[in-house]
Parts: sequence; C-alpha cells; structure tokens
Amino acid sequence: MSQIHVLVINCGSSSVKFSIVDTASGQAVLTGLAERLLSAKASFKLNYRQQSEHFSLNAPYDHQAAVAELVQQLTRLELIDSISAVGHRVVHGGEKFSQPTLITAKVKATINELAHLAPLHNPANLTGIEAAEKALEHLPQVAVFDTAFHQSMPEKAYLYGLPYELYQEHAIRRYGFHGSSHAFVAGQAADFIGKPLSQCSFISAHLGNGCSITAVKGGQSIDSSMGFTPLEGVMMGSRSGDLDPGIIFHLIDHLGYSPDEVQQLLNKKSGLLGLSGLSNDCRELEQAAFEENNTRAKLALEIFCYRIAKYIAALSASLTSLDGLIFTGGIGENSSYVREQILNQLSLLNFHIDQDKNRDTRFGKSDDISTPSSRYALVIPTNEEGVIASQSYQVLQEAK
Ligand code: AMP
Repeated sequence: MSQIHVLVINCGSSSVKFSIVDTASGQAVLTGLAERLLSAKASFKLNYRQQSEHFSLNAPYDHQAAVAELVQQLTRLELIDSISAVGHRVVHGGEKFSQPTLITAKVKATINELAHLAPLHNPANLTGIEAAEKALEHLPQVAVFDTAFHQSMPEKAYLYGLPYELYQEHAIRRYGFHGSSHAFVAGQAADFIGKPLSQCSFISAHLGNGCSITAVKGGQSIDSSMGFTPLEGVMMGSRSGDLDPGIIFHLIDHLGYSPDEVQQLLNKKSGLLGLSGLSNDCRELEQAAFEENNTRAKLALEIFCYRIAKYIAALSASLTSLDGLIFTGGIGENSSYVREQILNQLSLLNFHIDQDKNRDTRFGKSDDISTPSSRYALVIPTNEEGVIASQSYQVLQEAK
C-alpha cells in the first residue's frame, strides 16, 4: 500500500513551520521552517532524509511565498502526490470547536470571530490556511484546535471568580492550551503502564518554551493551568504565569507602563528570562547556573521548578486517584535537573525519583524515572504534529 501523508502546518505571525507526517507511523518524513517572514531576512529551510537544505524566498517574503516554495520543493522531491490532506494547528477554538474540523468558509469565519481571544495566534493561523488553500486547492484542509481537548473541563474548573455575565456575554473563561500534546502523552502513558486510558488518571506537564500542566482523567482534560490565554499558570520561558492582578494596576497607575508594555512585559520579558536576566532557554540557564555558578540563573530555575511542583499538587486535587505524572516538551523530555527538582518537591504525593534512570532519559526516549515504591513518573516525548496528522486523516475518513 502506498504511504498516506498529511502536510501539517503551524503558522505564526512571521513563520510557517511545516512537516509531512506518515499517518501509519505518526512520524515526520520531512520537516521545515520558514521564518522572519515579511522581512528581507526571510529564510526557508527543510530537512529531508538527514539532509538540511536552505532556499531563498521570492519577494514579498510572506506566508504565501513560503507555502509556494514549499509546494515547489515537495513537487521536486516527488512527495506532493502522496499528500492526502493539510492539517492546520489553530490555537483558539473558543467554545465553538471541541473536535478537529474540516475547514469551510463558515469555519474560517468562526476562527476569525474568535481572533479577539487569541489576537497573536488565530489571525496568523488563518493566514496559513488561506495560503495553503490557494497553493493546494485540490486538498482538503482540516483545523486542529489547541483548546479543543480542554472543552471537557467542568464549569467549576473553567469559570473565573468574576461576574457571570463576563462569561455569558464575552466568553471570558479558562480554555487551556497544548491540547494535542496532553492528549497524545496521556494515551502513550496508558500504553506504557498497561492500563486502559479510560481507567487512568494522570497529571501531564508539558514543559517547553510555553508550559502547561493538565489533569487528565479517563483520557479527558478535567483541569489545566493555562486559562483565558496561555499567560496563566506556571512560570515559563518568557511568560510570568500567575501573578496578583494588582501588580498590573500598579505598573500602569504608578510606574507609567502602557497596557501594551504590560503585555510585552508579562509575555516576552518575564519568566526564566526576566528572573535570570540572561535567557529564556533552560539549557543555557543550566549551563550558566552549574558551569558558571550564575546565581540569578540558579534562582530562576529554582522558582520555575517550585512553581511547577505547586501546580502539580494543586491539580491533583481535581482527581480522585492518580496513576502518575508525565513529563513532556523540550524541558520535560530532556532536563534531568528540572525533573529532579520537581519530583523532590512532591514526595508528599509519593513521587520518588530513580537518579540513574532520570539521568539516562532524554533525546526522545520514553521511560519511567521513578523508584519501585513511587507513583509513576514518566518521560514521554510529545508528537503534536503526529496528532494533528492523524486527527486530520480521521476527519477525512469520517467525511467520506
Ligand atoms: P520546546 O518549546 O518544547 O521546543 O522546548 C524548548 C525548551 O526546551 C528550551 O527551554 C530548551 O532549552 C529546552 N531544552 C531542550 N533540550 C534541553 C536539554 N538537553 N536540557 C535542558 N533543556 C533543554
């Protein structure tokens, strides 16, 4: 049987990340990135068969030019005819989308209507959809929403302690993000421990540049750390995570910040970057902290781990049983230091680390890094592109 491929597109405001995923294995056969779009420094790179190639883009160096170049390269590599659908990562589906959805004019209009909930993401995602529709008009396009997995959260988890009308009239509620990742690793974790997913309870910690923690019961999200926007929850690479909203008024009323500057401060200049004054990158901070004895880098990492452990403990209150904790994302999959700090903070929940296994588990390896008397502490590499591809393919099968 010939291979069935899905082209997965994750479009940001100045970048298009893409991969071709083989739906049978869930693995990417080609990956690539067009970045610094809309500037003269726009670049286009693809990785195929262990080779990395760079190409130049035609002016105006926009998303359309990036997708056109992609189509040209896929034609050259004779992959274009193997693609049966395009799956788009769409960040915010609000309350309108709880499932992956075949893209129609109406679906696009709804994604656009939801742009006020994710002004940095949904318009960029729509740009990617439109560019792909133009360049690959013969292929069905599917939207897979980051928020969809969390639509199973109960009211008590998704409502804020705000006047109810703000929810009814303005959709101000908690949504949760990183849905494809949490859903995927929970499924993998159930397989790992040999128990049906429907009977499992996990806390999944997606720790990358963005970080979120989710309580997953029976394969469904029942609470998550990110809220109305991805700013809520644990501290991240450059996002503050939770803080007293009074600080925002103080910044504006007494320190002369504009609302835009506060946005920038909390999203781009806080978290590991803000505390260390050095970097938002965990690997760089570990190097600075332990090889150069940089005390601010050490402090930033310490606060990062402590806040994550607190959230894991808090979210465990949403469950009646707990099979284990899952670490995923660039930091969760690779940083033995971060995992150790978090697990050491959670002995009350009966998590105990096996130091040797922890040290040896990285670079795409799955394992349980706990001692025999501990609850499971699993490291599971995420595969968001694989989920987007398989869900897109499923939507097509159901539409037939
Ligand atoms: P992601 O957003 O999932 O790609 O994750 C990016 C984060 O993972 C960055 O903070 C990286 O520094 C971190 N990371 C990747 N590899 C390692 C590693 N070997 N040790 C520590 N952190 C890592």
